[in-house]
Amino acid sequence: MQLCNTNPLENPNQETLSNEEKLAQLSKLEQDKLNKIQELYSLSFSDLIYLAQSVHRDNNNPNEVQFCTLSSIKTGACPEDCGYCAQSSRYKTGLQIEPLQEEEKILTEARQAQANGSTRFCMGAAWREIPEGKQFDSVLRMVREVKAMGMEPCVTLGMLNADQAQQLKEAGLHSYNHNIDTSRDYYPEVISTRTFDDRLQTISHVQEAGIHVCSGGILGMGETQEDRLSMLATLASMDPQPSSVPINVLVPIAGTPLEAADPIDNLDLVRLVACTRIMLPKARVRLSAGRLTMSDELQTLCFIAGANSIHTGDKLLTTPLAGESRDHRLMERLGMKVAA
Ligand code: SF4
Repeated sequence: MQLCNTNPLENPNQETLSNEEKLAQLSKLEQDKLNKIQELYSLSFSDLIYLAQSVHRDNNNPNEVQFCTLSSIKTGACPEDCGYCAQSSRYKTGLQIEPLQEEEKILTEARQAQANGSTRFCMGAAWREIPEGKQFDSVLRMVREVKAMGMEPCVTLGMLNADQAQQLKEAGLHSYNHNIDTSRDYYPEVISTRTFDDRLQTISHVQEAGIHVCSGGILGMGETQEDRLSMLATLASMDPQPSSVPINVLVPIAGTPLEAADPIDNLDLVRLVACTRIMLPKARVRLSAGRLTMSDELQTLCFIAGANSIHTGDKLLTTPLAGESRDHRLMERLGMKVAA
């Protein structure tokens, strides 16, 4: 299978084209990827899993899973209206609001996460965009300290500009998380306070600063199968591709517009993990929100389909997880290793 990552917006040979022509070519690239993903998705389940596992073995250690801990460093009171989120100030979710946390408290959490097997520590703040000044300076110090511990520091802070991306890079940031959440077409059904292109703009600043992109989506928000595959086509068309792709399953939060969304079919989840593995062969495909209610058997199927990272701990920002001990037990039962 030919996997072409050429992005016409980045290709120097395309310099004579107008921006409109470049965008048209980009969407042509996405359309090609989408056609390929649709082809994959229509394979029989066993053929798809076989192919995904083969790609996984060619590109990664199939018996290794990275543990990643995500900590909320500033919780709630977010002005955005993401329909799935407990932290939006627009919904009554009963969430306890917390200002930016003390650096030492967060660094203690990072040390604990490392002792429990995590090699990546992600710090999330409920901001529309990164504020300049003391708060950003505090985040930069935390990034430096987490890096000094020998972990991969990652942050998710909302939109950023090119200068902020550069400062994060200089502080030693490994990855910036910025999920595209869903397809371009479905995005306005979930979020009205920013656009899909705003999202891509931040990702492009992150790429230009030389920081790894962590970007994925959320399944189960009422989107169609076509939306999910289209989201994957966008991720697969990025150049460079995201080195980390979180696959979240919606945890419906009472008080949000998506509190009554229908759950997704488990086999659809496994199929999407398999397609992600094939289309982004070297990425860390991360099982993220929603793992608390996944059986060990479902998670195992996802690992066979190419997932090779999990968010671990008791919480993922504000949604519950099962804790490290269940995750370590599952690794032992499967004869798999936690990536060191
Ligand atoms: S997902 Fe992020 S940006 Fe959206 S409401 Fe929640 S905290 Fe704010």
